[in-house]
Amino acid sequence: LAGTAFVPMASATATPLYQNARASVSDRVTDLMARMTLDDKVGQMTQGERGSATPAQAAAARLGSILSGGGSTPTPNTPQAWADMIDAYQRAATSTGLGIPIIYGSDSVHGHNNAYGATIFPHNIGLGAANDPALVRQIGAVTARETAATGVKWAFAPCLCVARDDRWGRTYESFGEVPANPVANSVVIEGLQGSSLAAPASVLATAKHFIGDGGTTGGVDQGNTQISLDELRKIHLPPFQAAIAHGVGSVMISFNSWNGVKDHGNKFLITDLLKGELHFSGFVVSDWNGIDQIDGQPGFTAAEVKQAVNAGIDMVMVPNDYAKFVSTLKAEVLNGHVPMSRIDDANRRILTKKFELGLFEHPYTDRSLQQDFGSAAHHALARQAARESQVLLKNDGVLPLAKADNRIFVAGKNANDMGNQAGGWTLTWQGQSGERVIPGTTILDGIKAGAGKGTVVTYDRAGGGINSSYKVAVAVVGETPYAEGQGDRPGGVVLDAEDVALIGKLKASGVPLVVVTVSGRPLDISAQLPSIRGLVAAWLPGSEGAGVADVLYGDYNPTGKLSFTWPKSASQQPINAGDGKQGLFPYGYGLSYGRRH
Ligand code: BGC
Repeated sequence: LAGTAFVPMASATATPLYQNARASVSDRVTDLMARMTLDDKVGQMTQGERGSATPAQAAAARLGSILSGGGSTPTPNTPQAWADMIDAYQRAATSTGLGIPIIYGSDSVHGHNNAYGATIFPHNIGLGAANDPALVRQIGAVTARETAATGVKWAFAPCLCVARDDRWGRTYESFGEVPANPVANSVVIEGLQGSSLAAPASVLATAKHFIGDGGTTGGVDQGNTQISLDELRKIHLPPFQAAIAHGVGSVMISFNSWNGVKDHGNKFLITDLLKGELHFSGFVVSDWNGIDQIDGQPGFTAAEVKQAVNAGIDMVMVPNDYAKFVSTLKAEVLNGHVPMSRIDDANRRILTKKFELGLFEHPYTDRSLQQDFGSAAHHALARQAARESQVLLKNDGVLPLAKADNRIFVAGKNANDMGNQAGGWTLTWQGQSGERVIPGTTILDGIKAGAGKGTVVTYDRAGGGINSSYKVAVAVVGETPYAEGQGDRPGGVVLDAEDVALIGKLKASGVPLVVVTVSGRPLDISAQLPSIRGLVAAWLPGSEGAGVADVLYGDYNPTGKLSFTWPKSASQQPINAGDGKQGLFPYGYGLSYGRRH
């Protein structure tokens, strides 16, 4: 008896198995979970916003994760300040009894777009036009490197939505209107997660938003996707199957409903389809307070918490009032509404990823990665991506522009605006116009830099000063930044009055006109097309406008192809490949120099 009394004492002083890096992840999770209280477990399943939980508060509530929502950035917005901020959360988390590190998340949807100075890549719609898996894998790797350099180890990307109606404000987050584009581009996950999650420059990727976000009636953000299960499987499921095949670590649930039922409360979709049939073994995160939308009434209830967790959600992103969520979920477990087995399953999934990421061994930011944050090599990759994403839609021979002895007149609100060419999800959630809001090159910068001997480049936003002495005019028109529902255009996507007036003015000068559209989706340009001699869809090219100029000068022979059918008129939506409708330019269309097809 005396001998056995020493056993617990001896094991109490030994290093717990879960802290042994040589033990298997599965054994470490089992050991850790045996030591966790219900409070610890419910906390793991909760993600707070940095603005509403200090490091001490997050640690006291045992929160499993913290995020920076769009535009929630430290001051100053530098990699060092990010790392200091996140390390402070880790210091607090790892000082608690069990010392479980948090996982910090952010929307790195086109580079680490919340951090100033990060390399900003084209939004997905442009990469869908580029359709170059090797390029996209590299973009994923650079995005991961710059994201991890700031301490963020979890990216809420890629968005694999199949946008079926361009009126939707998130169309630009889609690689294409048919599943083939997101499936091909889901390879970005391999870049984000690297060959091992434990590598310092790897981040956990998130396939989002499961499922049907791009299929809502009328293209309404967070709307209702009214389609059969067959169509859901055919159009919206393949990208998630591909993401799972690439080993994606997390999946985010979509705000939309499917035939009137919110995805966030749909056990068939999350547990039966995603975790069961597709064998997804990572963890499922809700969208921002998405559980609150289940019953359509403001303020989440115990019934919504129960329904969401029982449906299969493992972590709840920003329940408005995380403390109330934690106490509600705990009560639902104690009263038997949520089985303990569900809580354990969620914890096993979350903790497995934390161990795989090496967070227990290395909770703090690897600041050596900051050396090539926004480096010239990374910007060169962004420039290549911008080039490859351009789609040449019309050319009567006016393009490429002569580099020498030319007189080029440049105009339009998107010619010299870093914010407009980067689009939404850049520094702030909605993005922002501004000539120099992020470092990089505008399209005008690129045109100027590419001009050869004897060439004059003149710029006036509104086209003032155009006259017949110019050999060509380039109007850079299109959309200005928006994100999510604020970009919904129920009346159709049209050129704004400023652009219509500009094109009219330049046409009246008689100077040959090239139009470049900077936009998150096709625009109704049929009325202007006869006066346009060269038309390039630039999408949202990111921080390297020079890549657009490379195409205009023919330094890069365009290869991009439409991943969205370009409609004849704004009222033609929805229009998609294979639906029998005739657009202005079909899906897959794109010209090169010296060849028409
Ligand atoms: C968006 C998600 C995003 C989340 C966190 C939500 O509003 O729908 O795509 O990951 O915010 O910023």
